[in-house]
Amino acid sequence: MFGVVKSTVIDGVEFEDETESIVVSVRPRKGAKQRCGMCQRRCPRYHHGEGRRRWRGPDLGLLRSFLEADAPRVTCGEHGVVVASVPWARHGARHTRVFEDTIAWMATRTYLLKEQLREVFALKGEQGKQLLDRWLSWARRRRIPAFVHLAQRIARHREAIDATPDHRLSNGLVESTNTKIRLLTRMAFGFKSPEAMIALAMLNLGGCCPPLPRPSRRVNRPTEPAGEPFSGRSS
Ligand SMILES: [Zn+2]
Repeated sequence: MFGVVKSTVIDGVEFEDETESIVVSVRPRKGAKQRCGMCQRRCPRYHHGEGRRRWRGPDLGLLRSFLEADAPRVTCGEHGVVVASVPWARHGARHTRVFEDTIAWMATRTYLLKEQLREVFALKGEQGKQLLDRWLSWARRRRIPAFVHLAQRIARHREAIDATPDHRLSNGLVESTNTKIRLLTRMAFGFKSPEAMIALAMLNLGGCCPPLPRPSRRVNRPTEPAGEPFSGRSS
């Protein structure tokens, strides 16, 4: 809890009103003190640091949690003056190890869920639908709010979604056309009438290529030899 790990002593726990967080005062145990943040070797103390420092820990429901401790510096024979190592966080990190590991674990799970969902729509017929069934039960069990919500939406629109593996139908073209029309509207800084927007959309996306008036191209003729206009001039 709070991202506290072994080799850590808890000195106190407080609720901070202004940030609505739980702040846990900690310090490294004796054996974990005065170690180089980079190589973990025991080193002489250099400076007591610049006051208390905080590391964000895992949330507790709606509350954020922080570990708070001094951040003294030590002199390492190899790395020079560095911030001393703390058992609850990696060197230079602003979050606790537990927080970082949780995020990394969630990112892996999220990536796998996303990749498998892509696979569902790459497969055809029954195979795609069976994989979607497995994906839905997997996503619900993972308890990642975004995927649980997505799984609920997929379940709601399941009949329409099954059309993709069944008939290879997709609304991709409609969605892409909508996006391009929104882009045209932005590029034109708006239109005074819907007709003007429809005309430009048809011209741009309708597949018609009527000949358009263009400014006449200026032909660059080779420059005449200097003095030519005045050729009649007596030399
Ligand atoms: Zn070192």
